Amino acid sequence: MSDLDIPSPFSEIPLYPLQYLHPSPIHPLPHLSTSATDAANTKDTTANKDGQNPSSHPRINIWCKREDHGSPLACSGNKYRKLEYIVPDILRPQKDGRTVTILVTEGAIQSNHTVQVASVAAVLGLKAVVLLHKGTGGGLRSTTNPEVFQNTGNVQVVRMLGAEVRMLEPDESADDKDPVEPILQGLRDNGHVPYWIPSGASLHHLGGLGYARCAFEIAKQEVELSQRGTLKGSGRFDYIFVSFGSGSTVAGLIAGFKLLEKTRQQQGNNEERKQLPKRQVISIMSSPTKPKPYHEERAVRFARTAGEMIGLDPQNDISLDDVRLDDRFVGSAYGQLDPETKAALDRVARVDGLIGDPVYTGKTLRGLLHWVESGEIARDWSVRGGNSAELNVLFIHTGGQSALAAYSDI
Ligand SMILES: *Cc1c(COP(=O)(O)O)cnc(C)c1O
Repeated sequence: MSDLDIPSPFSEIPLYPLQYLHPSPIHPLPHLSTSATDAANTKDTTANKDGQNPSSHPRINIWCKREDHGSPLACSGNKYRKLEYIVPDILRPQKDGRTVTILVTEGAIQSNHTVQVASVAAVLGLKAVVLLHKGTGGGLRSTTNPEVFQNTGNVQVVRMLGAEVRMLEPDESADDKDPVEPILQGLRDNGHVPYWIPSGASLHHLGGLGYARCAFEIAKQEVELSQRGTLKGSGRFDYIFVSFGSGSTVAGLIAGFKLLEKTRQQQGNNEERKQLPKRQVISIMSSPTKPKPYHEERAVRFARTAGEMIGLDPQNDISLDDVRLDDRFVGSAYGQLDPETKAALDRVARVDGLIGDPVYTGKTLRGLLHWVESGEIARDWSVRGGNSAELNVLFIHTGGQSALAAYSDI
């Protein structure tokens, strides 16, 4: 990996490369930027018919970081970054001195995470068992074709990768039951040494490190893009939009950017000197099942766990103020493609040829476009002291397009 200027002790944490040797690409979304800025301006003019505030709206440059193009492994997506830090733990002798023979993980029926675990198992020469919860979210409930939903998209890919798929009925994975431990015990009884990776790898103590590293990758790309003159305005991504699922993607980013700011401050190269408001990471929730405070608490907890390992002072450096979750675009259920999200996916595909996914990035794109077009982002920027004529927004494309086939009826 190219030098990302990651400070110690973070730089010493072992990593097993699953990403390409080059960073995942960042590119502009030119047509979306123009159409969203135009829409925001139209709103502004109607709100100020007296012409008092004619050219107040900054140009919004929307960029995309292609985490769906970050790894050569199956269906590249955000879980590979997390797994890069988990693999060394998998390859280590376990508590009883034995080596892991099988990875076990879980997800909703069309989980992207399980695909990424299954392909890591394949390249490590391990077996994999994938537990798919039929009761999680509303995808299966709302499809017109349950057979297709349970056998195409990510389920098909998981099987191609050689993992064993076990579908769990809703009553098997109810809150008061733990279906996992008996399954792990069954594998042990058959001579296996299982390694458990919780949903989205977020509850795993190493789960936040991958996106802490990604923050440094983004910072390096910012420098390169502004030196080339393509990234204008502040020369930085002022707002970063990312999906919220199990939480460690955004938590890792928060911890990573905190460490970056702290390191730059120590080097005398801080944002305050450039009189820029702090960059904001905004995370769009993908599920209405649990309320926002539940997820905020998790995000802070995961960011602190990662923060402690990478050299931050978890209690003082990371707080609830760093976590900006938006629960307005969750739609009807996790994994259900609602009409507004579908419209956002179609729009982005038709103006810039970019394909998102129905479960996460579709909702995030919808949220991002709302923030831009309603003028919320410009207001947020000026409230915090920003006054540039251009604002740079980065949408992190976390992958997931391999689920699209299962949603072909919508
Ligand atoms: C898992 C996933 C997310 C959510 O990431 P978390 O770290 O679980 O919050 C977002 N987008 C896609 C495509 C995913 O597969």
